[in-house]
Amino acid sequence: MKKPNILLIYTGGTIGMIKDPKTKALRAFDFGHLIEKIPELNLLDCHINTTSFENPIDSSNMNTEHWVKCAEIIEDNYKDFDGFVVLHGSDTMSYTASALSFMLEELNKPVVLTGSQLPIGDLRTDAKENLITAIQIASLTEKGKPVIQEVTLYFEYKLYRGNRTTKINAEHFEAFTSLNYPELIESGVHLNINRDVLYKPLAKKKLRVHKVLNTNVVILKLFPGISESILRSILESENLQGIVLETYGAGNTSDEKWFVDLLKVAIKKGIHIINVTQCSGGSVLMGQYQSSAQLKKIGVISGKDITTEAAITKLMYLLSLNLSKKSFKNVFQTAIRGEIT
Ligand code: ASP
Repeated sequence: MKKPNILLIYTGGTIGMIKDPKTKALRAFDFGHLIEKIPELNLLDCHINTTSFENPIDSSNMNTEHWVKCAEIIEDNYKDFDGFVVLHGSDTMSYTASALSFMLEELNKPVVLTGSQLPIGDLRTDAKENLITAIQIASLTEKGKPVIQEVTLYFEYKLYRGNRTTKINAEHFEAFTSLNYPELIESGVHLNINRDVLYKPLAKKKLRVHKVLNTNVVILKLFPGISESILRSILESENLQGIVLETYGAGNTSDEKWFVDLLKVAIKKGIHIINVTQCSGGSVLMGQYQSSAQLKKIGVISGKDITTEAAITKLMYLLSLNLSKKSFKNVFQTAIRGEIT
């Protein structure tokens, strides 16, 4: 059987960093150095080609142009490769995984993002296992078809649906979680594939890559004591077109008149407001409490159980499609890449 071709795309992040011998600070990214450190890659049952961002970045510098660059690398190489592994800093990996899931429509090959908490050259590094298993997962086929046909994230023995993940720990090797969706694969002695929860593209269509993302958006986290004047100035910001509103519990907010009125005016002006919960897990259920019933009435969109990362990137993507107000709401509340239950 033909060995799968895997493209390794290096964007930056701790995985390829080295310690400055003088300052001990992590700096510089060196892709050559990364490959050199893992001779084990030669033992894998696949062909690996590599490519790198010209200037690899700490993922805290990630922006929509980098996402487009990444999507274009996948697009340009889509025919020639069976799977893609994207090496990425962990800080914004969930945002990138979410963004790519929306940008790559009709994807039917694996895209696996991974990285590490410790550089590849560190004795106790988590990078080797993450990288090697990510490549193995991207190489998995059954009956001539790739097992994974979606954008995923692999970290510390678990493969997740990318747009369901959140970084939850800056210290532990287990840095990510997916509280509202089960793991796709767990790596132990065997790779245990949870087949029932894998994304199954409906028909074999051609990959369509969306390269326009609208950044006239903001994430607004509510807190007790939020001031009317500050909220007003945010809602009246020039060009603002969409807000991910992080609310309490099952989608609750203050029901004070000034607060609801400010949101109402913004929605009337055409700003889309998405209600997502500040809780790490669970779902928004507008109307369950009186404090959220009014939100539903004034046209706030329910993000249901979507993550903040997926909500903001879905907002950027949908805004670029120029949908009518009604279909924007319908599409937002519907799963288009498995991001909502
Ligand atoms: N600051 C780093 C980054 O996100 C952290 C990491 O790679 O884990 O690029």
